[in-house]
Amino acid sequence: MSNSASFEVGPPYIYECTDCGERIEADSSIGQRPECEGEMRNLSKSSGQ
Ligand SMILES: [Zn+2]
Repeated sequence: MSNSASFEVGPPYIYECTDCGERIEADSSIGQRPECEGEMRNLSKSSGQ
């Protein structure tokens, strides 16, 4: 009985590199992408600010 109810856990925050447009999923805030040193833009909308 390992069929646990799958909660609708939204995917981790999605960050898009403003330099190359690469999207990365991360559960933590990302500063910049070391590969291209591009700033990661958080695409996820933060409810209530
Ligand atoms: Zn990039």
